[in-house]
Amino acid sequence: MNRKHFPGRHFLQIPGPTNVPDRVLRAIDRPTIDHRSQEFSRLGRDCLEDMKRVFQTSQGQVFIFPSSGTGAWEAAIVNTLSPGDRVLMFETGQFGALWQKVALNFGVHVDFVPGDWRHGVPPEAVEAKLRDDVRKEIKAVMCVHNETSTGVTSRIAEVRAAMDRSGHPALLMVDTISSLGSIDYRHDEWRVDVAIGGSQKGLMLPPGLGFNAVSQKALAASRTARLPRSFWSWADMAGPNQQGFFPYTPATNLLFGLREAVSMLLDEEGLDLVFKRHQRHAAATRTAVNAWGLELVCADPREYSGALTAIFLPDGFDEADFRKLVLENFDLSLGSGLGKLKGRAFRIGHLGDFNDLMLCGTLCGVEMGLSQFGVPFKKGGVDAAMEYLAGARG
Ligand code: PLP
Repeated sequence: MNRKHFPGRHFLQIPGPTNVPDRVLRAIDRPTIDHRSQEFSRLGRDCLEDMKRVFQTSQGQVFIFPSSGTGAWEAAIVNTLSPGDRVLMFETGQFGALWQKVALNFGVHVDFVPGDWRHGVPPEAVEAKLRDDVRKEIKAVMCVHNETSTGVTSRIAEVRAAMDRSGHPALLMVDTISSLGSIDYRHDEWRVDVAIGGSQKGLMLPPGLGFNAVSQKALAASRTARLPRSFWSWADMAGPNQQGFFPYTPATNLLFGLREAVSMLLDEEGLDLVFKRHQRHAAATRTAVNAWGLELVCADPREYSGALTAIFLPDGFDEADFRKLVLENFDLSLGSGLGKLKGRAFRIGHLGDFNDLMLCGTLCGVEMGLSQFGVPFKKGGVDAAMEYLAGARG
């Protein structure tokens, strides 16, 4: 199909980047200001303070980089570790595997616990691995909170409890790139040492900002860690940040957008309701999937993601061809199967600036697509989801 124009709004239902609210687009659409001015200093301070509330930390420090999430992964590693250090990581899916690669590239030794891409980080394995490490060589336990490739959310509070039981002093690092601002993430309560975030998912912004939320323990570790760092240096950031400034040119207009987006999340809707809204849309989506008779990738109901749902297609039906059909016929973008799930599973993103009717439209596109693609399935998923949404307010 070679259409030049699709009337109506495109449905961007990949699990990030997500839809950017018009208000946030307008906040970004302003003349760039002098990043050494008093006006910028207020903007910088507002963003740094607000982001602490988003990470639910009062004791930690937040750093903002003009980067994608991968940059913030690298920042977490180079600020806290030394060449040859050992860390513990988990094969929860594509992003767990990619973060491992970043660590390996820096000469860090990774104890990579294999997984089946259907479960989160197993707290009991964390405890066992740390107990085995009698010489306390493991410097960090590194987990992806919400595995965007599988729709599985690891139970970080339980991972923390497992670490505490083992009595091991390793740092806890958590990738919150697709959970921040959509799934409850509690930096202080779970005593996470470094959290990694990105702008393009729950925060409802375009790609381009990376975040680290850092505990006092991690800041102390950064003073003796020996991996080389320059652009990502927390120490270089910390000084100028005190006045809301940055050691190099910041992404000024994205910060205008960030201030607007976090005010919507924190002050207008409120984080509790934001999390409930995401859980509700996730539950409605699973209701549709069950009614269709399709299989979820996430195998443990305790780990269902509030941000996205990954769904297997039956054998012989390629998810890439299915998504192509849905895009061409309904102007709906669905998430691809990543890594080991390529060809087998597609993903529905239901995070960010999203409401009931947007979800209904998305599920309609999927159900019509399943029919047209010839997938054997039971009709009525959209009806079941609508019934769920009509009944489950709040
Ligand atoms: N971690 C998770 C959980 C992600 O979902 C992503 C991207 O989707 C990344 C890391 C990598 O972030 P980026 O693509 O912004 O570099």
